[in-house]
Amino acid sequence: MFHPEEAPANPEEQALKFGAKDIFDLSWKSLLDAYSCTECGRCTAACPANITGKLLNPRKIMMATRDRMQDVRKNIKRNGSYVSDGKLLLHNYITTEELRACTSCNACVEECPVSISPLAIIFEMRRSLIMEESDAPAEWNAMFGNIENNFAPWKFSPDERAKWAEEL
Ligand code: SF4
Ligand code: SF4
Repeated sequence: MFHPEEAPANPEEQALKFGAKDIFDLSWKSLLDAYSCTECGRCTAACPANITGKLLNPRKIMMATRDRMQDVRKNIKRNGSYVSDGKLLLHNYITTEELRACTSCNACVEECPVSISPLAIIFEMRRSLIMEESDAPAEWNAMFGNIENNFAPWKFSPDERAKWAEEL
């Protein structure tokens, strides 16, 4: 708002979009990551979600992204340009359950020998789930409400924040 000269000429024309539903919404880095993955599995071996039996597998996130890119490539080759096949990376290739299992610990990124970030894809898709589809577990929604109203994830008023120190 401090730089009106930088505002788009017609904001109505700019479709607001949050996160990624499909490969078209991902950054070129994430797409290149998907093709660069060596499938070594070091990310999955270090993933606490996977180790504790959750559905999430960061190596599979990269392979699913690559599979979707291959399917889109074949679609473009067949039709001249992309024609919707009714599928999306979100839901059809990577499920909500996988995305929600991520703790954002960054271990997969740290372990990858070729600097790939499965977490970047997970973040973008989770952003789309929550901001575009309002699809979050009830516990998260309560936390979002608290952050909005109390400026913290807890249900207490900001006025009560220093109460714990009153008797000290
Ligand atoms: S950031 Fe998510 S996907 Fe990566 S290791 Fe941690 S829990 Fe697993
Ligand atoms: S550690 Fe990196 S290269 Fe290996 S499977 Fe995971 S993302 Fe692919």
